[in-house]
Amino acid sequence: MHAIQITETGGPEVMKWTELATPEPGPGEILVRIEAAGVNFIDVYFRKGIYKMPLPATLGVEAAGVVEKVGSESTGFRSGDRVAWTDRSGSGAFGGSYATHVVVPVARAVILPASVEPRMAAAVMLQGMTAHYLTRSTFVLRAGQTCLVHAAAGGVGLLLCQMAKMAGARVIGTVSTEEKAALARGAGADDVILYTQQDFEAEARRLTGGRGVDVVYDSVGKTTFDKSLGSLAPRGMLALFGGSSGTVPPFDPQLLNAKGSLFLTRPNLAHYVATRDELVARAGEVLSWVASGTLKVRIGATFPLREAAEAHRALEGRATTGKLVLLP
Ligand code: NDP
Repeated sequence: MHAIQITETGGPEVMKWTELATPEPGPGEILVRIEAAGVNFIDVYFRKGIYKMPLPATLGVEAAGVVEKVGSESTGFRSGDRVAWTDRSGSGAFGGSYATHVVVPVARAVILPASVEPRMAAAVMLQGMTAHYLTRSTFVLRAGQTCLVHAAAGGVGLLLCQMAKMAGARVIGTVSTEEKAALARGAGADDVILYTQQDFEAEARRLTGGRGVDVVYDSVGKTTFDKSLGSLAPRGMLALFGGSSGTVPPFDPQLLNAKGSLFLTRPNLAHYVATRDELVARAGEVLSWVASGTLKVRIGATFPLREAAEAHRALEGRATTGKLVLLP
């Protein structure tokens, strides 16, 4: 088998095409031949060493493929099943998905609906379940509420816009370019702010008649954090779920009082799919929306697995829209 491995942290150049022995599935595990692997911003954090993993390591936390071998005690899965999974631990206990093959614990895998293609499944396991928990669990969006979605044309962003609209909420998106603005509108955003040119806090206030929004879904972090707090209505929530522009520095909780008894959370998908029941329910709903066409998945670009470093360059360079998928 082949995989994209890193032996040291650093820039995209540390990602190497490597030949490895194909692993055997142990008890409670399956060996999967990967058909499509999702690229996520978290892969960049692991590659750079912002998040730690034991080295050498195969990058990648999400994929879809076909079961080739089943280990003992792996009930519910058979050779030939089409499956998908995501794992954000990066612990090394779970093989990376930038690979042709990987061993997956059955506890983390789900069987795909017949009509969902592998690249679609690889595109929504992590980002789709993230948009799902943010809008359905972290801040349960309701009709009549307004949310602000940063990086609204990104992988998570386009899915967040759609799921917020499905909940009946009004969506204000932020993006860096006109092309991205059109994509965000296509995903349902009612208003779009070019946050590289306009003050999004002032715009969010203007668009809500001075009240502010009920929730901000902020994955950009360092460059947006202060103004995200400033965009909220009293008792609103900032769901800070990423740091694409960098990590937010320490701040004084008194600010939450001063700006209107605000709530701040720093959620992580792992805690919203921690049990098998929650994983199956969340993945099941997202995959059923993909199967029915209720949720549109935009694959912005595909790359041969060997060229995974190019996908990272594009993602970090803000040059991408929607999802990036690697094809072995
Ligand atoms: P995106 O497709 O959203 O790509 C990142 C986008 O962020 C860019 O396209 C860009 O959009 C925007 N951005 C703003 N400033 C910068 C910057 N300085 N450098 C790079 N990008 C910038 O990526 P993903 O959908 O994969 O992930 C989005 C975020 O969500 C990441 O921070 C990720 O870690 C986080 N995440 C968190 C999860 C959780 O459970 N906590 C789960 C999944 C993802 P624009 O050009 O419009 O500004």
